[in-house]
Parts: sequence; C-alpha cells; structure tokens
Amino acid sequence: MPEDDRDRDKPPLVISACLLGVACNHEGRGSPRAVVDELAKHYRLVPVCPEVLGGLPTPRAAAELVGGDGADVLAGAGDARVISIEGDDVTAAYLRGAEAAVAVALGVGARRAVLKARSPSCGASAVYDGTFSRRLVPGRGVTAAALSAAGLEVGSEEDAAAAASPISGDRPGSSSPEPL
Ligand code: SF4
Repeated sequence: MPEDDRDRDKPPLVISACLLGVACNHEGRGSPRAVVDELAKHYRLVPVCPEVLGGLPTPRAAAELVGGDGADVLAGAGDARVISIEGDDVTAAYLRGAEAAVAVALGVGARRAVLKARSPSCGASAVYDGTFSRRLVPGRGVTAAALSAAGLEVGSEEDAAAAASPISGDRPGSSSPEPL
C-alpha cells in the first residue's frame, strides 16, 4: 500500500512545523527532532507554524510573553501581551496564528498536539519570562493555550514518551497504546 494511503488510516496529530525541519522559526531555521519519526508511525502529522499563520515574517525578531502566559493573552487578562525584543507589540499576530491553528486542528479532527517547547506560541508547559534573559516560568504559549482550550491534549516534543504514546482509542484497531 502506498505511504499516503497508510497515512490516511492514522489519526491526525497537530505538530509544530519547525519540529519537522521546516525553516520557520524566528531565526529562519527549523528545529528537527528525532521523535517526529516515532510520531509519524502512529499519526498523520499535520504541521502548523502559528507565527507564520499569524502573518509574521521569517526570520523575525524574537518575542516573549510579558505580564502573563498565553492563556492570559487569550483571556485578555491584565497586561498580558507578546512583545518582540525590539519592543514591538506582536500580540495580534500571535492571536491570529492561534486562531488559525485551532481552525486547522478542528478541521482535521485532531485530538492531540505536539508543540515546540518554550516558544511564546507553542510552549506547552514553560515559557520565557519576558526579560529576554532565558529565564523560564510555568505557562503556555498562546497557541498551546488556544489548542488546549479547544479540547486538544497539548504536549511538547520533549515529553517524548507521552508524545509518542497514542491516546487510548486513537489508533484504529487498537485499544492498547504503544509507547516509544
Ligand atoms: Fe512556528 Fe511554533 Fe516552531 Fe515557533 S515554535 S517556529 S511558532 S511552529
């Protein structure tokens, strides 16, 4: 059976495009990870880059969450914003990208997303603290928060075992998840 036909039988998985090696990060590079090959055995990968979907150029200035995390930005809580290292407010682009990523996820029926760790868009559990000093704080990126709010299970590529273990019932014909 051709590879494309086999992929059609797999459940969809939203994944940060840079993890597949797409040169879409702020430096104009990809962030390829070996775990993608494992995920591709179980899932039909649906790559998204929320920052590009939101209209930002590549390369682009680094940006960080300030005044809260991605969930706070989505909720419009307090002064939570996304600010570039040059001082530009890029919150609107991040919100557009999150909205587009959710539309893709719901459109393909994805129940799970594996997103690049620590990104202000894609970070699943920790993000930089807004001081551009590489300090991490607990929280999610804007798209990670939006996908979670839309009902997806969101994790990072670094949570390899969880990332490669299909959700029970996700794999056609299987009720026993297969770990890495
Ligand atoms: Fe795009 Fe997310 Fe990768 Fe950043 S971490 S380059 S927003 S896919």
